Amino acid sequence: MPKIPDEVVKRVIDRAKIEDVVGDFVDLRKAGVNLTGLCPFHDDRTDGNFIVRPSSIPEARHGNTYRCFVCDHKGGPVQFLMEHERLSFPDAIRWLGKKYNEPVDDIPLNYTPPPPRPKPAPLPVLEIPRPYVGRTMQIAGEQTIIFIEWLRQLPWDEEQLARLQQTLWMYCIGGWRDGRVVFWQIDHNGIPRAAKLMKYLPDGHRDKEAHPGWIYNQDGCRQQLDPEHHEIIKPLFGSHLMNRYPKAVINIVESEKTAIIMANYYDDFDSQIWLACGGLKFLQLDSLQPLIDQERTIWLWPDKDGRDAWQEVCDKLGYDHCRVYTHFFDTCWTPADGDKADIADIAIRMMTTGEGPRQSGQSRGQAPEAKPSEPVPMTTQPKPDDVTDEEWANHLAIMKAIGDYDIIHPGDEPFMPEDEMADPRLRWMRETLRHIKTNHKLYGNQKK
Ligand SMILES: [Zn+2]
Repeated sequence: MPKIPDEVVKRVIDRAKIEDVVGDFVDLRKAGVNLTGLCPFHDDRTDGNFIVRPSSIPEARHGNTYRCFVCDHKGGPVQFLMEHERLSFPDAIRWLGKKYNEPVDDIPLNYTPPPPRPKPAPLPVLEIPRPYVGRTMQIAGEQTIIFIEWLRQLPWDEEQLARLQQTLWMYCIGGWRDGRVVFWQIDHNGIPRAAKLMKYLPDGHRDKEAHPGWIYNQDGCRQQLDPEHHEIIKPLFGSHLMNRYPKAVINIVESEKTAIIMANYYDDFDSQIWLACGGLKFLQLDSLQPLIDQERTIWLWPDKDGRDAWQEVCDKLGYDHCRVYTHFFDTCWTPADGDKADIADIAIRMMTTGEGPRQSGQSRGQAPEAKPSEPVPMTTQPKPDDVTDEEWANHLAIMKAIGDYDIIHPGDEPFMPEDEMADPRLRWMRETLRHIKTNHKLYGNQKK
């Protein structure tokens, strides 16, 4: 077989653009100066591992190449065709000649385009075993978690301080061995889906140097949870409270910290619950959908610099029971709060200066009425015959306080070692735990 002349090869290669060639086989999107897509050489689920540096970037800076950071496939247009379409070098040149209308030789191209690739079956959604939640809560009781320490020293009044531990428990706040706080993202059906590990500084600000970690990426969890082979969904922080308080207005803020502070500030779960989306850009339709499905009343409480962005999201939703609530910026914000202030920053300042706390229901502006929905069956469950009235009342009170028993109960593992029980901060948890243990039969039928 005669060799294709070098000058012809060079001419064809000079014409070939990697973005065109890869783009014939992979859906690419712009990512800065590069393009990204799912890597065609490995079972890729994460856009961003496979990058294409377009031909507009100089060759010295690796322009006109592709590269996968996972499976390490890399090269230019010719290598891509040889590896991906299994063409010989001369056929890759002929393929490019045809694409760019550059005559190569008289030998026909030996190439059959592959049939369209079948769409991969959807991955199962990651479900984190509930004992993980209990273990992180146990660590939060055993170790110093800076975030929790900071929360405790806020200028709460006596009642607020007394209920803080319970508020933390309702949100299933956990700790990690390195002192990070664990914010669980448990969906409205009580299934833990994700958990964010955040590092806080003693002043209550996030450590900006440390990026948030996710529990499924932590050593020791990654292998067991196998995030590579699951779809990961991230419900709003606090979603597990939704079904527990079916008549409550759903208040959504940016940060988990703000949700906890506001929940403890108002302590009015029957009428107000506080959820967090995790940041300005994470207020998205798919995480709001369960709320809309339940026809819940939603109030959005943006940070001061996020008002327009959240109003835009709200407008796009086109959902009648959603409002952006910014009235408090007009009535309570002062320049000292700063342009990034949110409702909790203002609440803390008001607590410090003795202006507050206001009671819930005041200065709420023109917000819609909460729409009542069906009560949860659990609270209307009849009292079993072998349970005393007192036990039953206690049971209902606890169910109301802690949300879903299943969520926080760590299965067969001891929830907390006995020697930790001496810590007075844990008394409320300890008593509740003892109650759960002694009434295990009573709770057993709650399990799904
Ligand atoms: Zn790859």
